[in-house]
Amino acid sequence: MKFCNLASGSRGNCTIISSDRATLMVDDGLNIRTLSERAREANIDLRKIDAILITHEHTDHVKGVSALVKKYSIPVYCHRESRKGLDAAVSPYVFDCDMDAPFEIGDICVTPFRLPHDSNYNLGYGLSDGRKKIAIATDLGYMNDAILDNLTDSDLVMLESNHDREMLRTGSYPFMLKQRIMGKNGHLSNDECAESIAKLAARGTKHFVLSHLSQDNNTPELAFECTAKALENARFVEGADVYVDTAMQYKATGKIILD
Ligand SMILES: [Zn+2]
Ligand SMILES: [Zn+2]
Repeated sequence: MKFCNLASGSRGNCTIISSDRATLMVDDGLNIRTLSERAREANIDLRKIDAILITHEHTDHVKGVSALVKKYSIPVYCHRESRKGLDAAVSPYVFDCDMDAPFEIGDICVTPFRLPHDSNYNLGYGLSDGRKKIAIATDLGYMNDAILDNLTDSDLVMLESNHDREMLRTGSYPFMLKQRIMGKNGHLSNDECAESIAKLAARGTKHFVLSHLSQDNNTPELAFECTAKALENARFVEGADVYVDTAMQYKATGKIILD
């Protein structure tokens, strides 16, 4: 399987996963022009997308869906509660999916699981072609054993590393917004992400992609160092035993090929 993130963060999210017989997009929070540019740079043909999987209906995850569906008539999968947040014009292309109800697109088995967030609903996805598995969990207020179990046995996990707690605490955001981000239905901090990644590495996952980094309350260096330190404390060497990449807002990651 192959993984490529085209954008990650509160200004737009989009990830492409492909196998031998299917290409899936997870979220499309980019306008069609930016998406087309980013896809061209990453050598991805948008006409080959078989389906769009939506995590939740927040703008940074769905803003581009309507234009893309109108252009290429791509089927969209999302939870029925998130469907309410989509443009009514795409309705004929939308299929409901639900936590713990796996379904197949081509040779990829998609297993949705629930994540705690202040949207109508939020889904993470496990994606497996029977040989390799990729899991995506973004926009979650906290980690728990059930979520960790859904991420287990993955070859690659893309997990939110949203904020540095200290930067958020001392930063300029209004009190209510800080409370929202730190709350049970907000976003995962670097510390929580790092702790989860160390646990997943102990269970055998080798590739990690840090995602949805805050532009104001985080830096790629802080997020990476936090996870690298947690891995080191668990006696894993980043770059040798396990690999950590960081998904960015304004450029695509390289293509990660799992074989
Ligand atoms: Zn988001
Ligand atoms: Zn969100």
